[in-house]
Amino acid sequence: MIKKYKQTIKQEFFFIGFSSALIIAFVFILLASVGIYLLSMDNAQKKLEMANLHISTYTNGVLESLVMSTKTNAAFPGAMDYEQGYAEAEEKLLQLFSATTQANPNIKYSFAGYEDGTLLIEGYETPVGFDARLRPWYASAVERYPRLSVGLPYQDALTYEWLVSVSLAMFDEQGDLKGVMAVDCSLEYIKSIMTEVSYYDSQMNYVLDENRVVFVHNNSNYLHQSVDTIVPGLSEKFSEDSGFIRYKIDGKDRLAFYHRLEEADWIIVSAIDASEVLGPIVRTVSYIMLALVLLAIVLGLGQVKVYERRFVKPITALRDHISDITSGHKIRTEHPYIYSNNELANIAGKIEEMAETSLRKKNDELRLILDATSDGILVLDLEGNIIHTNEKYSKFKDHLLKIQVDQPYNYEQLFRREETFEVLHINGKMVLEQYTCPVFNNGDLKGQLWRYRDITEKFRAEEDLKWLATTDSLTGLWNRRYFLERGEIEVEAVLRTGLPLSLLYIDIDFFKSINDSFGHRIGDEVLLYIGMTLKSQVRNMDVVARLGGEEFCVLAPNTSLQSANLLAEKLRRFFETNIYQQEEKKVHFTISVGVATYTEDIGSIEDLLVAADAACYQAKNQGRNSVVTSDMFR
Ligand code: GH3
Ligand code: MG
Ligand code: MG
Repeated sequence: MIKKYKQTIKQEFFFIGFSSALIIAFVFILLASVGIYLLSMDNAQKKLEMANLHISTYTNGVLESLVMSTKTNAAFPGAMDYEQGYAEAEEKLLQLFSATTQANPNIKYSFAGYEDGTLLIEGYETPVGFDARLRPWYASAVERYPRLSVGLPYQDALTYEWLVSVSLAMFDEQGDLKGVMAVDCSLEYIKSIMTEVSYYDSQMNYVLDENRVVFVHNNSNYLHQSVDTIVPGLSEKFSEDSGFIRYKIDGKDRLAFYHRLEEADWIIVSAIDASEVLGPIVRTVSYIMLALVLLAIVLGLGQVKVYERRFVKPITALRDHISDITSGHKIRTEHPYIYSNNELANIAGKIEEMAETSLRKKNDELRLILDATSDGILVLDLEGNIIHTNEKYSKFKDHLLKIQVDQPYNYEQLFRREETFEVLHINGKMVLEQYTCPVFNNGDLKGQLWRYRDITEKFRAEEDLKWLATTDSLTGLWNRRYFLERGEIEVEAVLRTGLPLSLLYIDIDFFKSINDSFGHRIGDEVLLYIGMTLKSQVRNMDVVARLGGEEFCVLAPNTSLQSANLLAEKLRRFFETNIYQQEEKKVHFTISVGVATYTEDIGSIEDLLVAADAACYQAKNQGRNSVVTSDMFR
C-alpha cells in the first residue's frame, strides 16, 4: 500500500534547488560584500584624501602668500627704523601696507608694531591704551625669530573678530628688537575655504592650531577647545604629516584624513560618518541579496520543472504502470509512456518487463496449482469480478446453475464474513461439497472464495457402508444391529406414548434338514423367500429383521399382545399352507413363533427379545409349527 508522503519529490527538488542557489547566493553576497566594502572604503578614503589635500593646498597657498607679503614688508627699507614722528617714513610704510592689501586679497590688514608700543596701520582705529607689544602676534613673532610666526589665531582688540596672523620680528644689526611686521587674514575666510570641497553630506573640514585646539569648525560647540576634550586621546592620532584616522564622536564612527600644513603648524582634518560609506554598501548588498534570492527562487522552480519532467513524471508513470500490472488491471501496452530520459526509459522498461514476467510466472504457477487441485475454485472481488477460477470450477458451473437460480455468490453472504459449509445434491446424480469463506488481505475484506468438491463417490460409499451396517445382505432385511437400535427407539416411544409394542421371534423348523436335502444354495433362497414373505405379510411400520441363521424378528409398534398373536398365527398358517418351489424342487416347512409384548417389567429391547426367544423355544418344545405367548414378566 502506498503511504502518504511527508514531502513530494517536487517539494524536495524545489528545496534542494532553492537552498543550493541560496547557498551560492550567500557565498556570492559575502564575497561581493567584502569586495564592495573594500572598494567603497578605498574609494571613500581616496575622495576624502583628495578633498583634504585640495583644501590643505589652498590654505597653505593662502598662508604662503601671507608669509611672502610679511617677508617683503619686513625687508622694506626703513621698515625696521620707523620712529614716531617721522611723517615721511610713516607715509611710505602706510603706502606699502595699502599696496600689500591691494595686491593680496587674502590679507585683511597689513601692519607693524614697534618696541615703543606703537602700531603702524592704515584704516584701523587703535583703541585707547593699545600697546602693540602686548598683542599675541607680536609676542609669537619674537618668540619664533628668526622664523616667522605663521597662522596664529587671535582676536581683534577692537571688534573681537577672530583673525589669523603671520608676523616676523625685526632685529637690527646689533641684535636689538625693533618691532614686528605682520599681516592678518579673516578667520571667516579660512572657514570659507573649509566648505570648498565636500563630497559627503556628513563631511566636515576643520582646523586645529599648534596646540591642537579647534579654531575653525562649522559646529561652534567645538570651537576653542582642545580636541582631546572633545575626543579623548585624539591628538595623539595625528602623529604623521598626513594619514587616515578613525574615532568615535557622539556614538558615531568617523573616518578622517588629516594633513599638517607646511607653513603653519596647523592640522586640517576632513572627517565623514563611516555609516555614510557603509550605507550605500548595505543598500547595494541588500539589492543584490534580494535579486539573488529571487534568482534562487526562479532557479529552484526551474529545477523543479526540469526534474519533474525528467525524473518525477517517468517515476510516477512507472509506479502507476507497475501498480496496474501487479493489480492485473492493465497489461503493458506497446507504447505505455515515452520516458524522456534514455537511461530511465531503459530502467523503467526493464522494471516493467520484470514485473510482468514475475507476475505472469506467479499467475502461471497459481493457475497450475489451481488447475491441479480436484476442487473447483472461484474467487470474486467485492464488485463481483472474478479474480480466480480454475478448470474444475467451469465443469461444476453448469451443474451449479441447475440448483442456483441466482449467481453462485450473493453479497449478503459476502459481507457476513464467515465460513459456511454445505452439501449440495444435484438432481440425485451428483453430490458437491460447497465451502465458502471471505478473503482478507492485511485485515481488509477483499472478496469471497468458493470451493466445490465432488463427493458423489464418497457419498455413495458412505451410503453403502451405512446400508451394510444396518442390512442383512442375504435377505435385504434389517440386521440385528439395526433391529436393536430401532428397538430402543420404539421402546422410548412406548414410554412417551403408552402405546403397546409387540415382538415376534420366528425360527424355522428343521431348517438343517432343508439344507441337507436341497443344498445350501436352496437353503439361502428359502431364507430370502421367508424374508420377502414376512415383509409382504406385515405393515409398513413394522420392522422385519433377520437376527442371524434362520431366525427372524418382527417388531410391531402400536400392536397389542392379542394382535401380535393373531399376526403370528397368520404367519404360521401361511408357511404351513404354502410351499417354496424352485424348478423341480418343492420345499415345505413350518415355523415356530414366540410372541412377547413390552410391559413395564421389561426394561429394554434386549429383554423383550429374550422373552420372545424363550416363548419360541417353548414352541419348539411343544412340537414345533406353533405360536407361544411369552409368560415372562407378566
Ligand atoms: P429346529 O430349529 O427345528 O430345532 O431345527 P433346526 O434344524 O432348524 O435347528 P437349528 O435351528 O438349531 O439349526 C439351524 C440351521 O440352519 C443350521 C444351519 O445349517 C442352518 N443355517 C443357518 N444359517 C444358514 C444360512 O445362512 N443358510 C443356510 N442355507 N442354512 C443356514
Ligand atoms: Mg434356529
Ligand atoms: Mg430352526
